[in-house]
Amino acid sequence: MSEFFITMIFVGTGLLIASLMTTLNICRKSNNSAWYFLFYFIILFIVGYAGILYYFVYFQLDSILVSIVACILFGGGGFVYLVIKLSYNSLVTIEQAVEDQRYQAEHDILTGLPNRKMFFRYLSQIINQSTPCSVLFLDLNDFKQVNDSFGHYCGDQLLIATANALKFNLTEHGSLYRLAGDEFAILSTYQSEKGLQQCIDLITNSVKSPLKVDKQLINVKFSIGVSHYPQDSVDMYELVKHADLAMYEAKRSGQTLVFYDAELSNRESEILLMVNKIKKAIEQDEFLLFFQPLICTKSNQQHGLEVLIRWPQPDGGFLSPSDFIMVAERSSLILSVTKWVVIEAIKKLKELKNAGFTGALHINLSAQDLKSNAFYEYVAELFKEDPSISKVIIFEITESAMMTNIQGAKTMITSLNAMGFQFSIDDFGTGFSSLSLLRELSIKQIKIDRSFVSGMLTKKADYAIVKSIIYLAKQLECEVIAEGIEDRETEQALINLDCHYLQGFYYSKPLSIEDIKHKYLNHKAN
Ligand code: C2E
Ligand code: MG
Ligand code: MG
Repeated sequence: MSEFFITMIFVGTGLLIASLMTTLNICRKSNNSAWYFLFYFIILFIVGYAGILYYFVYFQLDSILVSIVACILFGGGGFVYLVIKLSYNSLVTIEQAVEDQRYQAEHDILTGLPNRKMFFRYLSQIINQSTPCSVLFLDLNDFKQVNDSFGHYCGDQLLIATANALKFNLTEHGSLYRLAGDEFAILSTYQSEKGLQQCIDLITNSVKSPLKVDKQLINVKFSIGVSHYPQDSVDMYELVKHADLAMYEAKRSGQTLVFYDAELSNRESEILLMVNKIKKAIEQDEFLLFFQPLICTKSNQQHGLEVLIRWPQPDGGFLSPSDFIMVAERSSLILSVTKWVVIEAIKKLKELKNAGFTGALHINLSAQDLKSNAFYEYVAELFKEDPSISKVIIFEITESAMMTNIQGAKTMITSLNAMGFQFSIDDFGTGFSSLSLLRELSIKQIKIDRSFVSGMLTKKADYAIVKSIIYLAKQLECEVIAEGIEDRETEQALINLDCHYLQGFYYSKPLSIEDIKHKYLNHKAN
């Protein structure tokens, strides 16, 4: 037998041995017993190959038939090797895809942090083992503003930079998760107060210096809410709710850190009660509108009226908007309240016109009204019915509401402007507005916040701010109103600064429609 054919059978056997190794790897990965069957089958083949080789060599056979058999054995070895190798590669690819899928299901793609699912899984494990732990909820302050001002790419980069900074600092102090948007959570199994405080210090230190994001330096601040297991609850979901509540309280009160306590839950129940009362008040038309005059400094006459909502109470008193507007805003009821105010104001406008009123009504909007198209569509519907309303309604948006939703404010102002509605920026000076935005949008009026006006005669800085706002408004060709005038001296100072309009208790507190008609109009009709 020629050496060439011996080599062929040798290589064929070698290929079978190599396939045997791969099959063994497949057997380890796959639970399918057919692979074990194949494994032993290949061993049988190897033995068969060796037997045939021995037979051919021992009897020194050399014929055309032997050559054909040698070729078949070589081909068979190659075929088995190829099939097994390809199967192995496919299995590895599938395994990798499954692994990727599992990673994606358990991690946040943007930051690479474990996600909400992992957070709950780990928390339930800790609770099952009865290990005391703290749940920390972190929310970035003013994240929306970053998105609106610098774009979503920059917002994403900020989230990544924040996650990295936290991850780097917290390695041994707690596990970090991204729950959603700008919300992160940390599970800390520290049982001592000192350990937890260390963890909190690390969180605040990790964003102490501004983060460099897309060539911008951005100051990051957190609102942190903390709840403890088992003190605050033994139920996982309640524990999380408590941390969330504490975080919300931190945000609301402008603090960095709030620990959950039962008082927060009580307040939450009160808020829930208030939400139900507001719903009922809308349905049963319980609200009232009051009106506060705006005085023109040139004519010393009433020029327009600001519409201010009031909620009559069973004891005969009124609940002021500061007591319920925030609750309405939190519960998304505010849109219904605003719609009610607008439609009621339009009704009252007719009554006022009949009594000789010629000015415009100023209606306050909330930040939530800018969030969707719903308010715009509502006003567009009213405008279709009576286009003249756009000339007699001025919408007031507080500067801070505008800045928390720049894009929403831009869209709303531009589309309502197109119908002829005008806008006034309320509480100006308190909300860090970007001056370029004032130039960009068509703003009719700027209302100087009461806090500067009331202090302008006693505090140099307040006087300087009022003077600068009046100057700025004029340069931007806006009208300027000062609110909160309570005495003649302040009135005189504002007249000297050439402020266009004045509003405050010095002229009148907000009044019912009857009192307005009586005091300011010729009250022709009821
Ligand atoms: P605002 O729009 O800045 O309204 C002016 C607030 O200052 C009114 O309080 C008014 O009574 C008060 N005020 C006016 N002049 C003086 C003054 O000389 N001295 C003092 N100490 N206060 C003065 P009010 O009616 O309690 O409203 C508070 C805020 O609630 C309003 O501030 C406005 O942001 C909001 N608001 C009122 N009505 C509505 C509404 O219908 N919808 C919405 N979304 N918010 C409303
Ligand atoms: Mg206002
Ligand atoms: Mg105001």
